[in-house]
Amino acid sequence: MEKRIGIIGAGTAGLQLALHLQQNGVEATLFTDRKPEEYAGMRLLNTVAHHHVTIAREDKLGVNHWPSDQYGYLGHYYQVSGPQPVGFYGDLVKPSRAIDYRIYQPKLLEDFIARGGKVEYRTIEHEDVADISEAFDVLVICTGKGPFGQMFKHEPENSPHDRPQRALCVGLFKGIAETEIRAVTMNFSPGAGEMIEIPTWTFNGLSTALVCENHIGGDLEILAKTKYDDDPQAFLSLMIEKLKKHYPTCADRLDESQFDLANSSLDILQGGVTPTVRNSYIKLDNGKIAVALGDVQAVVDPVLGQGANMGSYAAIILGEQIVANDVYDERFMEKVDALRRDRVLSATRWTNFMLEHLGRLSPELLAFIGAIAQHPTLAAEFTENFNYPERQWDVFSSPQRTGAWIESRIRAAAEAVQEPVRAVA
Ligand SMILES: Cc1cc2nc3c(=O)[nH]c(=O)nc-3n(C[C@H](O)[C@H](O)[C@H](O)COP(=O)(O)OP(=O)(O)OC[C@H]3O[C@@H](n4cnc5c(N)ncnc54)[C@H](O)[C@@H]3O)c2cc1C
Repeated sequence: MEKRIGIIGAGTAGLQLALHLQQNGVEATLFTDRKPEEYAGMRLLNTVAHHHVTIAREDKLGVNHWPSDQYGYLGHYYQVSGPQPVGFYGDLVKPSRAIDYRIYQPKLLEDFIARGGKVEYRTIEHEDVADISEAFDVLVICTGKGPFGQMFKHEPENSPHDRPQRALCVGLFKGIAETEIRAVTMNFSPGAGEMIEIPTWTFNGLSTALVCENHIGGDLEILAKTKYDDDPQAFLSLMIEKLKKHYPTCADRLDESQFDLANSSLDILQGGVTPTVRNSYIKLDNGKIAVALGDVQAVVDPVLGQGANMGSYAAIILGEQIVANDVYDERFMEKVDALRRDRVLSATRWTNFMLEHLGRLSPELLAFIGAIAQHPTLAAEFTENFNYPERQWDVFSSPQRTGAWIESRIRAAAEAVQEPVRAVA
């Protein structure tokens, strides 16, 4: 039976799904409002790091144009500022990497087209969905966090917030020297914000993404409200002042004479993200299923870099199930959800948990940071688990679980140290 799949939205989720189906001989049609050549002139879309599990999926799809030995980063630094600063590092098992999505997404779209994929360029309206669905066995909606996804009802039990939890100011910058090891740096300024530094490849080469997650009502919120375009020098001076005050290890690597946006005034994005989980599908009036994928299914704040990675995971699960099944009904969706839901919900819950606990620097989180700061193997496991949000949620979903994880890992580390001594004796 020839299968016909419609995919509305050519972001990371839609592209990876389309490429997977294409690779497996299933006809997919992508609908998108953007042509590949339009991306270069667009404002920064986001600042996405792909974990190595996502890069492995790109390898399988044959679309990894950015080999990790050249473009990858190797781990995470963690820097807590304040009266008692703490700094430590955790290794990843394999490199992760960040490519400007204005380069990444059109490249994958071109790959899909070059392999014979069908693309229709137009902005889809809600009224079009029923008509479009007639031509397909199943329709996948992955239009990102914009209003289109609201055709799926939100799940209140998994969406505890009705507004953004951080005021975001995100940009690609030049003039910041690299850390000793090429790595992401997660900076925490208690009571004011978090700032994630990501070595990111953009049009002009390697830049530093600064993801400023400013606490609402705090000293850093002004970064989300001050417009670069109004007065670039005033904006940069404000950034420098705040970096010195809140994120001093980043400020120490700053060359003030070179510090600016990496390519142009389009390299900055300000606003906020309301974390939301939506129903995973709806049944249309004609009986066809429309599946929610990527940010349409679950949007998270970018503080832990989970959104696109879980979108990619869910896209491949959905693709595998489309290939493996011939009937796309409620039972099909049960199977898809059984496979993708734990990761999607864990990424959501862990991100919401960290936003809350970082916001008030809870004693539980302080104890956790204190433990992993002293034990490199714990820091490495925590860092590696950014690839597997369900493992993070296994650790953080209750204080008992956090305590048990710390205890078992410290015991294992102590036993590993003793082992060679016994062997020699
Ligand atoms: C500042 C920031 C930093 C982030 N950092 C990370 C990170 O480090 N790691 C991570 O994993 N995630 C990160 N994310 C999240 C990540 O960007 C999203 O989760 C991911 O891009 C969602 O992919 P998607 O395919 O669902 O949607 P998108 O990538 O948003 O793609 C949606 C697509 O649909 C198209 N479209 C939209 N509406 C229509 C329409 N009506 N008709 C036709 N086409 C339409 C768009 O053109 C686009 O092609 C970050 C987000 C932000 C904002």
